[in-house]
Amino acid sequence: MTTHGKDTLEIRPLEPLAVEFTSSWHYEAGALIDEIGTPHGLARWVDAYRPRLGMDASTPAELGAPDVTAALAVREAVRDLLDALVDGGRPPAASLDLVTERARGVQRAAVGWPEAGPRLEWPDGVRVMDIVGAQVCASATRLLTSPRRGLLRRCPAPSCVLFFSALRTGQQWCSPACGNRARVARHSARTR
Ligand SMILES: [Zn+2]
Repeated sequence: MTTHGKDTLEIRPLEPLAVEFTSSWHYEAGALIDEIGTPHGLARWVDAYRPRLGMDASTPAELGAPDVTAALAVREAVRDLLDALVDGGRPPAASLDLVTERARGVQRAAVGWPEAGPRLEWPDGVRVMDIVGAQVCASATRLLTSPRRGLLRRCPAPSCVLFFSALRTGQQWCSPACGNRARVARHSARTR
């Protein structure tokens, strides 16, 4: 179980891909863990999110240490932008540049339309991390520049670092589990 009360890599289908990517860094059993901090972990994340990345099953997720470095840089930049949005501030220019530049990568994909239906087709030889960076950063730019940004929140529960979309009126926490922990923490603070 994680702080968001689900298996670590369980997909939250209603969250934009960019928000899901930031959730690869989260608390589990009281400790911060990083799902994508190793090549193996990053490959697992890619496999779990393959359909949302527009990658078919035949694209192997072979990732190495430089890909991890790139993935962590993308996640940090996306977090900077989401932080700036929820805090009403401005992000570091380098983070905005990185996300804008990476997002351009989606232009390398074409929409193919085989019998099974439309799908993204990436050029031969494209690096998996370039697909991940392009899709995550394109998702971030769409989120930041659409009315949906008004729903973005940072979970205020103790030991939670997740962003989430407040899809229900008055939703304060990323998950019922975080709401419960926050209530317990408030209660014990009052009775102390
Ligand atoms: Zn939370």
